[in-house]
Amino acid sequence: MLKLDFSKYTEEFKEEFFDYIINKRELRQNLIDLREENRGNNSLVNLIDTLLEESTLSELIIGDYNSLIRLRWTLRKFKSILYEFREDFERIFVKEGYDKLKNTIKPKKIVSLLSIKTCPYCNINFIYGDRKRNYGVELDHIMPKNRYPIFAVSLANLIPSCGTCNKSKSDRKIQGFKSLFKINSFEDFKFTFIPDIELKTLTEIKLEEIEKNIKSIDFIKEVKANSELFSLKERYQKHKDIVAEIIQKQRLINYHKEKMDSNVLGISFPSSEEEYRLIYCNYYPISEEEFLKRPLSKLTFDIYKELNNPY
Ligand SMILES: [Zn+2]
Repeated sequence: MLKLDFSKYTEEFKEEFFDYIINKRELRQNLIDLREENRGNNSLVNLIDTLLEESTLSELIIGDYNSLIRLRWTLRKFKSILYEFREDFERIFVKEGYDKLKNTIKPKKIVSLLSIKTCPYCNINFIYGDRKRNYGVELDHIMPKNRYPIFAVSLANLIPSCGTCNKSKSDRKIQGFKSLFKINSFEDFKFTFIPDIELKTLTEIKLEEIEKNIKSIDFIKEVKANSELFSLKERYQKHKDIVAEIIQKQRLINYHKEKMDSNVLGISFPSSEEEYRLIYCNYYPISEEEFLKRPLSKLTFDIYKELNNPY
């Protein structure tokens, strides 16, 4: 749903991440050992030699998402050998690599560098950590680790997400799924709501009545595969109260504007970014990044926009 910016990973962090995987998790040494144990198997030796080239290793661990896609393409000729030695690759990349990594402070460092506080797949749950612990941060593999074990510790393949999203995606790979590094937060998903009664009437009734008269929350635009994977439409139906509040707040703003009472909240109308934040309890998205700071911020903004500039 919301865009993640890979360029936020600093060179220092990438070096530290690379060093952790290669040296602490002994990935290079484990690959060398596997090659030595199977000296007679030319295909395996070729594959490991390819992986151990310094540029490939660096692309594999800390390259961006496009590099990973290129690398997957390059490695397709080794498909059968990757399958034959699947257990060894799982041991090296998943058990010795990812399973140990996920219990370190790295996941929370990832969310902090990406400057996010909510799950980018759903924008419903908070995810963060402090110096010692992760609170609700899980790492999802865009390319599932049971199908692509060698991408299990690739930084660009790890998406910080909430438990609900991570579990619903699990190892599924769905046609049309769009990586969050490629998504446009403004354009790819757009919320709307379907009222049961006329919109004008809806703006004139009490808050609880508004909520009851919202038939559903829907998408005007969506990446179908992503929203189905995380059951976004179903999950958002639980938040009709937020939409009702936005409608009600909008009515109050319009009322005060009409009365020329520009001193409500001690600030002036029409809306500035600060007003938006105070009134709707979300950051005004001057950039895509702002959406990642609060849950339901995309829903709030789209409904606010719709009420002010109906499509
Ligand atoms: Zn989520």
